[in-house]
Amino acid sequence: MTDRVTISSSGESFTAEQDENLLAAALRAGIVIPHNCRNGFCGSCRARVVSGEIEMGEVKQEVISDAQREQGYILCCQASSRSDVELDVETIDAVADIEIRTLPTRVKRLEKLSHDVMFMELSLPPNEALRFRAGQYVDFLLRNGKRRSFSMANPPSRGNQLEFHIRKVPGGHFTTQVFEAMQEKDMLRLQGPFGTFFLREDSDRPAILIAGGTGLAPMKSIIEQVMEGDCDWPLHLYWGVRAEEDLYLEDDVNAWAGRLECLQYTPVLSEPQDSDDWQGATGWVHEAVVNDYPDLSAYDVYASGPPPMISAIQKLFPHHGLEEGRLYFDSFEYTSDGA
Ligand SMILES: Cc1cc2nc3c(=O)[nH]c(=O)nc-3n(C[C@H](O)[C@H](O)[C@H](O)COP(=O)(O)OP(=O)(O)OC[C@H]3O[C@@H](n4cnc5c(N)ncnc54)[C@H](O)[C@@H]3O)c2cc1C
Repeated sequence: MTDRVTISSSGESFTAEQDENLLAAALRAGIVIPHNCRNGFCGSCRARVVSGEIEMGEVKQEVISDAQREQGYILCCQASSRSDVELDVETIDAVADIEIRTLPTRVKRLEKLSHDVMFMELSLPPNEALRFRAGQYVDFLLRNGKRRSFSMANPPSRGNQLEFHIRKVPGGHFTTQVFEAMQEKDMLRLQGPFGTFFLREDSDRPAILIAGGTGLAPMKSIIEQVMEGDCDWPLHLYWGVRAEEDLYLEDDVNAWAGRLECLQYTPVLSEPQDSDDWQGATGWVHEAVVNDYPDLSAYDVYASGPPPMISAIQKLFPHHGLEEGRLYFDSFEYTSDGA
């Protein structure tokens, strides 16, 4: 059964099959609803049903409360239509013209960057390139039908060779394979790009960029893209990791700050080791940010990395004046089909 879904604000519409979710149907039609994990956890694709029948899978209270459900809120990645539907939701034009593609790739280079982060470079077939916005991600399509999401670490201008920073998850199905079995020249299928985490270049506000662990990957893509043009607005990158050994590629990060006058860089260690002899900032990275910027009312904030870091920022930063809609995030949620 096919239904028609209409977006109230723009009047745009798309068709949705009853056995697919509304986010997938919108993306298929080139209509981009804000989204991040596509797994029901991050809440980015929240929308309000104005009219029509919807069936929604299980969604946690923290993502959509009972009160919000009663007001008609749904998560587009978990909801399917049961009739024609009208939705109240924002759409994002800046990535709407980028086609979502499924492509074969070959592993070109694997290099351990730290005890638990692998650099993985993939080559696309000759004459193919992946169009994406700096900050977006792809899904790797695994042989068992599962998918795993990873952010591009290179800028889009190098769309024929894609770089990733893969953190090893203890017991993780895919990341263990990357560390222990994957070899150069292996094939890997990907689908993408996905996500609405990218620099809002039409904003005239200074931006605070907060990366946690391999949350550096999408930030690297963004900053290296900025370096290709004129950096005409202030950026402050905070990078939170546990100890100094987790600051992989730090020479590159210091080099960005050296070359870009508009970029300030602050690494923050949550558990520095005695051997680190660390003189820099310590504690949780989001707390280091509000120590430096107690009033965030004039800023845009971009955050990428572990879900607990993102939710701490969502809770804390509004108390420091961050305006609604000024937090853009890429929450590294894991799939519900994990081992
Ligand atoms: C939009 C997006 C972008 C991402 N980008 C990156 C990236 O650039 N670099 C990167 O390293 N990761 C990134 N991630 C996280 C990455 O997708 C997961 O770490 C990965 O899917 C784990 O796959 P796996 O098969 O090894 O683990 P699974 O087999 O899926 O997991 C095994 C178990 O480990 C636990 N687990 C899984 N992942 C995590 C995690 N991230 N943190 C804590 N516990 C976990 C769960 O309990 C799970 O049941 C991103 C996630 C999203 C949603």
